[in-house]
Amino acid sequence: MNTDPAVEAELDELARLVPGARLVTDPGIVAGFLHDQVTALPAGSPRGVVMPRSTDDVVAVMAWATRHRVPVVPRGAGTGLAGGATAIDGSLIVCLSRMTTIREIDPQNRVAVAEAGVITADVDRAAREVGLMYAPDPSSVELSTIGGNVATNAGGLRCVKYGVTRDSVLGVEAVLADGRVLSTGGRTIKNVAGYDLTGLLVGSEGTLGIITSATLRLLPAPPRDPVTLVGGFPSLVAAASAVSAVVAAGLRPSLLELLDHATLRAIDDWKHLGLSGTEAMLIAQFDDADADTHAEQVTALFTAAGADDVAVSSDPRESAQLLEVRRLAYPAAERLGRCLVEDVGVPVSRLADMVARIEQAAERHGVQVVTVAHAGDGNLHPTFVFDSPDGAVPQSVWRAADDVFHAALELGGTLTGEHGVGLLKQRWLPDQLGPVGTAVNRAIKDALDPLGLLNPGRGI
Ligand SMILES: Cc1cc2nc3c(=O)[nH]c(=O)nc-3n(C[C@H](O)[C@H](O)[C@H](O)COP(=O)(O)OP(=O)(O)OC[C@H]3O[C@@H](n4cnc5c(N)ncnc54)[C@H](O)[C@@H]3O)c2cc1C
Repeated sequence: MNTDPAVEAELDELARLVPGARLVTDPGIVAGFLHDQVTALPAGSPRGVVMPRSTDDVVAVMAWATRHRVPVVPRGAGTGLAGGATAIDGSLIVCLSRMTTIREIDPQNRVAVAEAGVITADVDRAAREVGLMYAPDPSSVELSTIGGNVATNAGGLRCVKYGVTRDSVLGVEAVLADGRVLSTGGRTIKNVAGYDLTGLLVGSEGTLGIITSATLRLLPAPPRDPVTLVGGFPSLVAAASAVSAVVAAGLRPSLLELLDHATLRAIDDWKHLGLSGTEAMLIAQFDDADADTHAEQVTALFTAAGADDVAVSSDPRESAQLLEVRRLAYPAAERLGRCLVEDVGVPVSRLADMVARIEQAAERHGVQVVTVAHAGDGNLHPTFVFDSPDGAVPQSVWRAADDVFHAALELGGTLTGEHGVGLLKQRWLPDQLGPVGTAVNRAIKDALDPLGLLNPGRGI
């Protein structure tokens, strides 16, 4: 891959510096590391991939990268949906997937310390062994890494009740661009010493430091299996008003998801579940001791909002089946064509307006869109479906996305609720941050990464 003798000499030096790490330059293998899930974006040609085994390895890698001015692309499992781990020309990809040790589970303080490459669900499984849980549950929970989740401030289905990844991170260990190790936070609930550097690194998309481990907050595991409700609605507006009613009633479901008609039709075309006549569907779960009472209240609210029928189950197998419809949404969309998954967020009260604006954008530009939403968070995933011989995103899709992003901002929302800016949304970011916000973001980046080596051109 690298025929330049100077580059080869630098890579030989790196291999000597991190003998325990895996350094890959074979083009066939490196090809598997060029993209995250956004394969429609063009990737550069990296020098290789290094897979460190320890924080010390990462320190050596970053000192080397600084010495030779090599840009670095941090990477976890590559499940990202914003192009944040897309390879850069001449870069070194630093893949943390071999740092898989859960260093500690501390039941007394309800804390876990996990290395960056630990799979998210493994932290939860380890916590459950001592009666605790790790709350963040992106749908990619069985694939994504803790480092990737922290770097993107990942959300998930349960965050309507338990918050996003940031709410579960008490501290991080990160290697800075020059190879210094920064440890932030700790295992105390309260901590106001200095600026909130933990908060700064959470969601920094690999642009401020390489996260090598995180100290994570654990919660008591729910006392029971969840009660699941599924309501079919005659219109999206009816479903959105049911969401508002649930929020206004002060109820705290552990999950509240919305599927639009196009999504239901896509699932039905595939699985024939009889969903096509339903205009919108809400799925809710309660996992607290009063779950049955709450389910009754929500059934009444769904019905008052116009739900045609509401199915309720507390049987774990039936619950899983009801939730399966939500899990089928993305693979069902993928059957229709190539997908560009978007991720806007609006205040919950503007949910119906946002869905209407998505539909208008799709119609105006003649593109196909299917939408699911973490409705309780006002976080929508309009997925643009397209066909193009070379895999590139057609201009009509970009124009529809442009409308959708500006609609989200007009409604008081955000370009991205949980996937991050990555490479995908950079051109719209100044529209949200404004000139002062952009300048402050840039100043922080310059202070921590003056040579611009950490994931340059991504995030801010
Ligand atoms: C089927 C599916 C479902 C999904 N569902 C959700 C969901 O419900 N909620 C949600 O929020 N996301 C979801 N995602 C998106 C994705 O899983 C998350 O963004 C996840 O946090 C990415 O983790 P990763 O380990 O794959 O990171 P990667 O994709 O490898 O990287 C993501 C970003 O983080 C940076 N990064 C990775 N590791 C580190 C590190 N150790 N230090 C510094 N920077 C790093 C990368 O440079 C990149 O910018 C889903 C993706 C898929 C494919």
